[in-house]
Amino acid sequence: MNKHIAVLAGDGIGPEITEGAILVLKRVAEKYGHTFTFEHLLMGGCAIDACGEPLPQTTVERCLASDSVLLGAVGGPKWDSLPGDKRPEKGLLGIRKAMGLYSNIRPAKLWAALADASPLKAHLVQNGIEIIVVRELTGGIYFGERGKYEDENMGETAWDTEKYSVKEIERITRIACELAQKRSKKIISVDKANVLESSRLWRKIVHTYAEKNYPDVEVCDMLVDNTAMQIVKNPAQFDVLLTSNMFGDILSDEAAQVTGSIGMLASSSLGDGTCGLYEPIHGSAPDIAGKDVANPIATILAAAMMLRDSFDMPKEYAAIECAVSKVLESGVRTADIMSEGMQLVGCREMARRIAEAI
Ligand code: NAD
Repeated sequence: MNKHIAVLAGDGIGPEITEGAILVLKRVAEKYGHTFTFEHLLMGGCAIDACGEPLPQTTVERCLASDSVLLGAVGGPKWDSLPGDKRPEKGLLGIRKAMGLYSNIRPAKLWAALADASPLKAHLVQNGIEIIVVRELTGGIYFGERGKYEDENMGETAWDTEKYSVKEIERITRIACELAQKRSKKIISVDKANVLESSRLWRKIVHTYAEKNYPDVEVCDMLVDNTAMQIVKNPAQFDVLLTSNMFGDILSDEAAQVTGSIGMLASSSLGDGTCGLYEPIHGSAPDIAGKDVANPIATILAAAMMLRDSFDMPKEYAAIECAVSKVLESGVRTADIMSEGMQLVGCREMARRIAEAI
């Protein structure tokens, strides 16, 4: 297959970690007979420096014309004093919006070789953890109406609105069902239907849509407060977890934390088409930028998700995942996941070892 990949390396460690992911993608292309071409584009602080804005129009146009987008990270102290709409992070929100990406998928996986990185007790994580949070990304309370007013009796008062439509719920349910079909065929849908009207609609539509269109996928419901507790009590019970924007924001951070390491976790954002945006969940880590010490694995796994979810290449995805596992099992570590008796390597060497293991 021929695929054209837009690369937004961004700032800080962004260029180092995307370079590592590209090395691995080139190895996959070589092994499986594909042709991947890479187009480097500016977004974030580097775009502000080069053209005065975080998301140049050319970047938007070229991303839309690509088969998928690989992102490093944006931001850093150099641009922190700029006004909100001129900051690097504005580029990130802008590209998600321009590409119509309404779903965010964040797998939180605890690798067997890194079991001691989890803050949970060993018996809770002995069978591994892999929670895939499917979060609705462009609706709900973060985008609903809000306001402030002076109440006669209570003083300054503020309000936000949680609002969901059938269309918004159906399209995110489709993403979760398609993912579940490739995995355990089970979804846990998280809401607060005992209190919120929007959650009652969420629950009804998730069930009717999934039953009608994906009868092989089983959907169970869980209240958000119970889910927060269950993630630390029995994380192995979760596979695909479907939820709204705010609940997903909170639960995906909790799920990531139980796996212990920010340098290992990837995420994807998808819309109606197959073109998505794939990135590590961490930021640009300015404290370690340019030192060849960053962990490239989150970005390498983001590239693997691109192969599976945008290019329908499950074998190639599995090959990268297996290579990461092999390298970790062999005791090779970057500084963030280093422990006694292991072999310390830099960002470039870690990527090289993973590419070699494919
Ligand atoms: P961060 O994720 O960049 O760093 C937090 C800590 O984790 C740091 O100590 C860093 O060294 C470490 N770390 C992060 N990624 C690592 C990796 N791959 N390997 C080893 N260690 C790693 O978060 P922060 O320090 O709060 O933010 C730094 C900048 O990144 C800010 O400008 C912020 O706005 C931006 N940011 C960007 C994104 C994005 O582009 N999607 C996301 C979050 C933060």
